[in-house]
Amino acid sequence: MTTTSPHDTAADDTPVTRRWSPGGCVWCGSRTDIEIYRDEPRCGECREHENTIDAARRFIGMYGLRPLGGAVTSDDDEELEHRTAARSARAALDRVRLPKRPAAADVRKASARAGASAAVRTTPSRSASAAPSGAVSTVDVAVLADRVTGLLEQLTAIEAGIADAEASSGLPARARLSDLQRQRATVMSTLAALEKARRGSAG
Ligand SMILES: [Zn+2]
Repeated sequence: MTTTSPHDTAADDTPVTRRWSPGGCVWCGSRTDIEIYRDEPRCGECREHENTIDAARRFIGMYGLRPLGGAVTSDDDEELEHRTAARSARAALDRVRLPKRPAAADVRKASARAGASAAVRTTPSRSASAAPSGAVSTVDVAVLADRVTGLLEQLTAIEAGIADAEASSGLPARARLSDLQRQRATVMSTLAALEKARRGSAG
């Protein structure tokens, strides 16, 4: 199975000619652990990355946070974790992406053939979206409550800092005050978004 090309460029880890062949992952061309994912054959590694991005997207959507992409700056650790994981998953996907995406018709034809020989497990597209670990389809009220508690604690600390900064004078105190006020605004808007999500899940 191991093929060593005489032109193997170890320094450059971008394969020179990666092309899709029937039975391969439509994204990266790999033939390892292929399953139908969102109606397309995808390899295990790609599916894992897609699931990571999905989980982050669900989290972002659940709390009404700003969309993924750009800076990973976050209001709390869990959000930061999701944003960071999604960013590296996206980078990994971009790295392995085939230079040319196979034509949909070719993929369908290959899948139909493979399906006949049962080489590719076809799952209904509905279950394909169910992530193996902790799929969140509805807002988890307990998780929401936890987050609200954490944010309220944060808010209390910020308020204390504001009172402290207001009592002091000078430029550093004023700079700290405006920074704290910005933080408070962020926490308040997150709390408002959480409240909206909570009401949505209750209704
Ligand atoms: Zn792949």
